[in-house]
Amino acid sequence: MKRKALFLDRDGVMNVDFGYVHQPERCVFIAGIFDLVCLANETGYAVIVVTNQAGIGRGYYSEAQFASFMQWMSDRFVKEGATIDRVYHCPHHPDAALGAYRKSCLCRKPSPGMFDAARQDLDLDMPASILIGDKRSDMEAGRRAGVGHCFLFGSKEKSEVPNGALAIDALLEVTPLLKAKPAIIQA
Ligand SMILES: [Mg+2]
Ligand SMILES: [Zn+2]
Repeated sequence: MKRKALFLDRDGVMNVDFGYVHQPERCVFIAGIFDLVCLANETGYAVIVVTNQAGIGRGYYSEAQFASFMQWMSDRFVKEGATIDRVYHCPHHPDAALGAYRKSCLCRKPSPGMFDAARQDLDLDMPASILIGDKRSDMEAGRRAGVGHCFLFGSKEKSEVPNGALAIDALLEVTPLLKAKPAIIQA
């Protein structure tokens, strides 16, 4: 049976988005994130981070700095009893990045490339999966990848919520969905 995923955008969903966060001292976790990931672990969802990191392409920090920061984040989750299963990141930017990082790639959201890679790597049930993001580009990427439940977190303007997405003001508003038992189809 295919596995369900909880896809999480990083900046603005897991940590406060101060812009190009890549150091532990700049990382402020968002209320509810540890409980959310714990619950997703318990209910069998693969927890997958999908994050645009054009700061790498722009030369603000390196791939190695990004990787070591993500390792630190992962370790913090483990200390809270929670596991992040995978991290996918896009280091590119179509015009602001340097050298080989400057390209119109298939992975930068709103393109669905990171979701597609996760689906193939982990054999995911996309219609049963959940995405939480804080930008319209997250919602578009999720929709294009076929993610069944897309939540726009912390949006000030409810009119900004695209069709097919739901607005949430707190991460734990998705708790009932994570706990929901799949409908049993009677033969
Ligand atoms: Mg974000
Ligand atoms: Zn990319």
